[in-house]
Amino acid sequence: MAEPRHESGKKERCDIEGCDAEGVRSIAGKKVEKAGMTLSGDPDKNAHLCKAHYREFKKKTKSDRTMDRLGW
Ligand SMILES: [Zn+2]
Repeated sequence: MAEPRHESGKKERCDIEGCDAEGVRSIAGKKVEKAGMTLSGDPDKNAHLCKAHYREFKKKTKSDRTMDRLGW
């Protein structure tokens, strides 16, 4: 019984503060914070982002523009 909650087969929620949408992407929390977004959870863990916040994250990081062309 190491992990208290989370990862018990339940759907992940977006870890951005104040957001309750379903998380579709898992990103290192540090990266998310670096992009200027506020996490509601522990930045040392992976953060789950909903579709909208993932798009925002991508915009802020602007790392890979080819993804945008594929419809993201
Ligand atoms: Zn979100």
